[in-house]
Amino acid sequence: MEKCPLCGGQKKKGTAIYSVDLETGVVIVRHVPCFVCAQCGEEWIESGVAKKIEEIVEEAKAKKYQTEIVNFPQIVAVSV
Ligand SMILES: [Zn+2]
Repeated sequence: MEKCPLCGGQKKKGTAIYSVDLETGVVIVRHVPCFVCAQCGEEWIESGVAKKIEEIVEEAKAKKYQTEIVNFPQIVAVSV
């Protein structure tokens, strides 16, 4: 497992909540897979996951909901 570049602590697999404030509303993506530093709590999202989040945000923008809450793994299961 990689080490945290900030504090040298162990990075562990975990999940995060990612929220974006758009002009039209708020998108909240739950259960986003990420690495979390066990020591300082810093989170890293892999580039593939970040791309997926972008797609989710774009879709949500098109819908123009005030609030959209998405569970990340469900969407991954469809497209990966
Ligand atoms: Zn750290």
